Amino acid sequence: MTQSNLMQDLERQGVSRREFLAFCASMAAILGMPKAASAAIAKAVESEKRPILVWLEFQDCAGNTESFLRSGHPTVAQILLDTISLNYHETLMVAAGDQAEAALEDTVAKHKGEYIALVEGSIPGDIDSGYCTIGGRSALDIAREVCGGAAATVAVGTCATFGGLPAAHPNPTRALSVADAVPGVRNLINMSACPANAENIAALVVYYLTIKHWPPLDQYRRPLFAYGTMIHDACERRAHFDSGQFVEQWGDAAHRHGYCLYQMGCKGPATSQNCPNVQWNGHTNWPIGCGSPCIGCAEPNFWDVMTPFYERLPNVEGINSSRWLNPVGLSLTGVVAAGAVAHGIGETVRYRRGHRPSVDEKARVDGKEQGKDASHDEESRK
Ligand code: SF4
Ligand code: SF4
Repeated sequence: MTQSNLMQDLERQGVSRREFLAFCASMAAILGMPKAASAAIAKAVESEKRPILVWLEFQDCAGNTESFLRSGHPTVAQILLDTISLNYHETLMVAAGDQAEAALEDTVAKHKGEYIALVEGSIPGDIDSGYCTIGGRSALDIAREVCGGAAATVAVGTCATFGGLPAAHPNPTRALSVADAVPGVRNLINMSACPANAENIAALVVYYLTIKHWPPLDQYRRPLFAYGTMIHDACERRAHFDSGQFVEQWGDAAHRHGYCLYQMGCKGPATSQNCPNVQWNGHTNWPIGCGSPCIGCAEPNFWDVMTPFYERLPNVEGINSSRWLNPVGLSLTGVVAAGAVAHGIGETVRYRRGHRPSVDEKARVDGKEQGKDASHDEESRK
């Protein structure tokens, strides 16, 4: 698509040049590139040959598709769907039935080694189990063929990346991640989270268009630009964690003051993703920003190992690690999460040994707040 074609198409959809350039600047920020790189991004997005994409949905809730379509303004989808050639997507395409399947077959046959496969949802591990069949074919059969012929495969969301909810104990469909269902697939990139953040998916495509290769990955094959930092390390409430200022009850004074949610089950110390910086819904807010703990949705097997969601990570006093060191927790959480938890414990021990504000001091804050509320109520009554 030429530059003028892309801009004309975007303008027809109500996306101005200014909004397009703002999108390119936001992509540069997510990718950790200097502001000046946004011009190169704009050039690459405008002038590059459209990459061909096929988007497969298996055992999923379509939450990643929803996330992609409901991103900020100008919508990521508007810009990217005009930049890429989305040849197959069950939820978005107009064609249905045989016509839709023919579009997929056609792409796989004619563009072998050229297209990018995006996979949403987990894949039942038995080819003849009868779970998740599309057009009479099992998900595993389709994934093997489509991902096997792709230039790259992007697992979108935690179900495709790690198995997600379908793979949670007892895993009745023997659900697998893309990596486990189609081992050895070329250029596999995992975009975990439930759902994956549309801005990160967009940034991945933009990176590929601009730099011409795929970004550096972590040990779970996730791009470092999106998963290179712990939630805890970039969290706006981190100063409260370091000072030992915790929410202890929903709606208490500490909660209203925006204190740390660690005691309320926050899994930020064991979770990597750029949520604190990129946020959600067009940078409107993010879970911790609005007072809810991180539930660790970007990490392996979070439905098993991060639950109960509102129970805190290991108890520091006496380190009640039994829940985390039980066979399930230990095998599923992995070294990184264990390291992160250890980091959280280390930090907690550090402040407990150091200058943690006393309970009395916190009580004074609470009391003051309650007093303020009471006097406010008193004033209201007058
Ligand atoms: S425990 Fe959670 S709320 Fe507290 S600083 Fe870490 S990430 Fe933020
Ligand atoms: S804050 Fe935590 S639970 Fe929420 S989206 Fe980010 S990683 Fe997932």
